[in-house]
Amino acid sequence: MHIWVLAPLLIPAAIAVAQQRPALFDDAVRAMGGESAIRAATSLTIEGTGRNYNFGQGMSPGVPLPRFDVSELRRSTDLTAVRHRHEVTRTAAFTTASTAPQRIVFGLDGDIAYGVAPNGNAARSVATVVPGRRQEHYHHPLVLIRAALEAGTEIQAAGTQAGSHVLRIKLSPSDSFQLWLDRQTHLPSRIRSLRYDVNLGDVVYETRFSEYAASGSLQLPTRMASTLAGATIAEYEVTRNVVGAEPIDLAAPEAARGPAPAPTVNVTSEELAPGVWYLAGGSHHSVLVEFDQYLMLIETPQHDARTLAVIAKARELRPGKPLRYAVNTHHHHDHSGGVRAAISEGLTILTHSGNVAFYRDVARRSHTLQPDALARAPRSPTIVAVGEKRVFQDRSRTVELYHVRGSPHTSTMIVAYLPTERMLVQADAYNPPAPNAPPPPSFPFAKNLVETVERLGLRVDRVAALHGRVVPFSEIREAGQ
Ligand SMILES: [Zn+2]
Repeated sequence: MHIWVLAPLLIPAAIAVAQQRPALFDDAVRAMGGESAIRAATSLTIEGTGRNYNFGQGMSPGVPLPRFDVSELRRSTDLTAVRHRHEVTRTAAFTTASTAPQRIVFGLDGDIAYGVAPNGNAARSVATVVPGRRQEHYHHPLVLIRAALEAGTEIQAAGTQAGSHVLRIKLSPSDSFQLWLDRQTHLPSRIRSLRYDVNLGDVVYETRFSEYAASGSLQLPTRMASTLAGATIAEYEVTRNVVGAEPIDLAAPEAARGPAPAPTVNVTSEELAPGVWYLAGGSHHSVLVEFDQYLMLIETPQHDARTLAVIAKARELRPGKPLRYAVNTHHHHDHSGGVRAAISEGLTILTHSGNVAFYRDVARRSHTLQPDALARAPRSPTIVAVGEKRVFQDRSRTVELYHVRGSPHTSTMIVAYLPTERMLVQADAYNPPAPNAPPPPSFPFAKNLVETVERLGLRVDRVAALHGRVVPFSEIREAGQ
């Protein structure tokens, strides 16, 4: 009985041991400096400068992303364990509340992903961050090839693409990569892996490597550029590659070693006017508006968990009425992450005309890595374009949707105006700081919002901000001066 159970388990191990490494992999090992030099390396610290880009936060869908200039990169990797620490000093080169240099520090230690705040306080990140960090860990030729030298790795030749040889490297059931090799030099030119993105589903994460230079007996790239779903997210020029031969201490900070914080979804409701509810309780709020025959939800943010909870709350507040519309203020991923969930619940999406093609694509993308609600129950979307103005009106309610022309935040922003209640619902144009918190250095989008309200002749008393809280319009007027 025992032997019968064990036998099937032993077969895959036997195959793995017997597997031959493709000659191409050995060519790459030789080109990088040879197996013994690679094995002797225990750590890699990369220093340089470059650019980061704000994924999912472009001026409109499909255009290049807002840029941060990185004045200092320092990335240290333990080549003997899944541990790294990534530090950058960067400055936003786009319109945002703070254009002061910011220090970003994060890392991975096994299954502990963490971040370190500018004040030095470390905190463990939610578990969903770990798979992405794990991929980033291996997106360097020295890290991936050294790991691939270990027993049990599956390496297969996978043809050629765009003038490069392609190898498929499987370090473990959850760590799979494509390694592209230059046909002339056999040096790694790209590493690719598949990653899950809430908005875009299964996407390719790719890093390209070039301008190799000697570092001791190893050849290492001095230019690296990463894309996600085809959009450039990081570019670095390496000024120094430091290869260590001694152990490096990249253990997670003590404060980050407790249990990972559990993601929570908390939806509160507050009736701002009869039939108008503020659905808050997290970082991204929504507003529910009741009409005679139906309900309209303004904003379906973040992800399935948030948006499905907000939709459930809406149906709980007015059980008898169909929830018909979901207004999307703009295409930024934190605000659009629940659009697929809204489609899965049969809501009609209202968004600026500049976003319609983007959401058609979002609705049909493949989500096999983490099937979301729409992937589990596919449904074709109904998307209605909002141009400069669109009015929804019946006997009890009027909601006017307006395009916010000339917003320095995004060109596809819409706001909702409730003329009877003299209320405006807006996202990102003005994020009220918490009452007891120091305000940000500036409110760079407030002026445009005030100008929009004046241009349209809207009579606004209160503003329901989709981050923060409800504030009098006078507060935004003041911030916009
Ligand atoms: Zn935004």
